[in-house]
Amino acid sequence: MHCPFCRHGDSRVVDSRTAEDGASIRRRRQCPECSRRFTTVETTSLSVMKRSGAVEPFSRDKIISGVRKACQGRPVSEDDLALLAQQVEEAVRATGVAEVDAHEIGLTILGPLRALDEVAYLRFASVYQGFCSLEDFEAAITALREDRAERDEAESLT
Ligand SMILES: [Zn+2]
Repeated sequence: MHCPFCRHGDSRVVDSRTAEDGASIRRRRQCPECSRRFTTVETTSLSVMKRSGAVEPFSRDKIISGVRKACQGRPVSEDDLALLAQQVEEAVRATGVAEVDAHEIGLTILGPLRALDEVAYLRFASVYQGFCSLEDFEAAITALREDRAERDEAESLT
């Protein structure tokens, strides 16, 4: 790691601490040449491969802006969106891959979004699962209804 001040090619770590969410480490470094200190943040890299073939770093903000569109007019708060993006990132990181397909992320969003808001889920699923007919919507709605019935049944048993 180059010193950002004098470009010396080496630095010494003087302090390391893990961020609260456990996803990154901040290190204080000192340059042995000019003695100035700087901070670096390390995260495991997670890249997203877009349909165009372009690769970009994973971004929770992108998840949020994508989902926000589907949530227009729905009772979903910014906190809900932030939590959803965190859940998606955790789910993707848990798979242990360094590069994930954008489409895969879209599919990963479906689970938590469905728990959050069924209408937003249907809107989002229609894009990511390529709904092209009323029958596709019908099938998705039927699946939601069946799950809901199962859930109600499970609740009535407890
Ligand atoms: Zn330096």
